[in-house]
Amino acid sequence: MTPARDGDRSTSDRGSARRRVLEGAAGVVAAGAIGTTGSVGARTNDPNGETDERTAASRNTDELPLFDGHVHLIPEETLGRVPLGANQLIAWMDENGIDRAVVLALDSPESYPVPASSPWVLDQVDAYPERLLPFCTIDPRTLVYGEDAAENLLERYVERGARGFGELKAGVPIDDPRVERLYELCAEHELPILFHTDEKAMTDDVGLPGLEDVVASFPEVDFLAHAHGWWAHVAADVEEADLGEYPDGEIDEPGRVPELLGRYDNLYGDLSGISGWNALTRDPAFGQAFLETHADQLVFGTDFLHPEQAIPQLELFERFDLDRSARAAIRYENLASVLA
Ligand SMILES: [Zn+2]
Repeated sequence: MTPARDGDRSTSDRGSARRRVLEGAAGVVAAGAIGTTGSVGARTNDPNGETDERTAASRNTDELPLFDGHVHLIPEETLGRVPLGANQLIAWMDENGIDRAVVLALDSPESYPVPASSPWVLDQVDAYPERLLPFCTIDPRTLVYGEDAAENLLERYVERGARGFGELKAGVPIDDPRVERLYELCAEHELPILFHTDEKAMTDDVGLPGLEDVVASFPEVDFLAHAHGWWAHVAADVEEADLGEYPDGEIDEPGRVPELLGRYDNLYGDLSGISGWNALTRDPAFGQAFLETHADQLVFGTDFLHPEQAIPQLELFERFDLDRSARAAIRYENLASVLA
């Protein structure tokens, strides 16, 4: 078992790590890397803030940067959704005041009908090195070709700029031995891992015993937890069917999500997707308290993947009343520290 967050990493250690990250982010802003996008300028140069674009007016009032921990680029039309290219993604980010975004690859058939392969994602983001932060992924079943093949691919992706591993969304158990080999490789390369757990991909039992074993076994790896199977566990009463659903209703008893966040400081909650939003809003009073208590381990994200998509997370900071330090943590500091 690995240390609880109140175990060996002291508050002051966390504080100094946070300060380093802040200084880094401030440096980026000062250097103009983020300012060149126009989104920061739009927020500060419009004193009236009264544009008729509800989004620009209401979403950009916060002077803090906003990083999106979960977006996609999609190469082909599928599921009635048009493709999404890097230029369009950047335009959408500008509209919504998003300074930077993690672009996740989708390599497994359970991930999406068309792959957004790691080499393709790395190519696509090339024109926007200050805005788009690519992750790579390798389906664990690739290990049928031997460990060297997977290792060589991962090394090449890292050399080409991959900043993390994901979206890990393959039709195998979350603690499958083949995935554990990938976790080891990510540990060697100091890559954070973003996984999607539901009833079809990175599967686990009710109560998330496999997930806990993984997070405890790789304390040096930061894990970003995403999707139904994870977020259903924000409440204690979880049934098998909830692992692929959006359970509703008030939360009488907090579940494994707050418990595991409290126990492991290498575990983060990815607030993207309907699952993330549902976990916050099914019981708004619970959601408010959850955001406040776990602000240091929650990451803003959208799961944006096609232009027509409604993104409730863009209202998050109006919907919930958070102080500046909690907003800073969720909007960019936590993700920046995971990527550092
Ligand atoms: Zn996604």
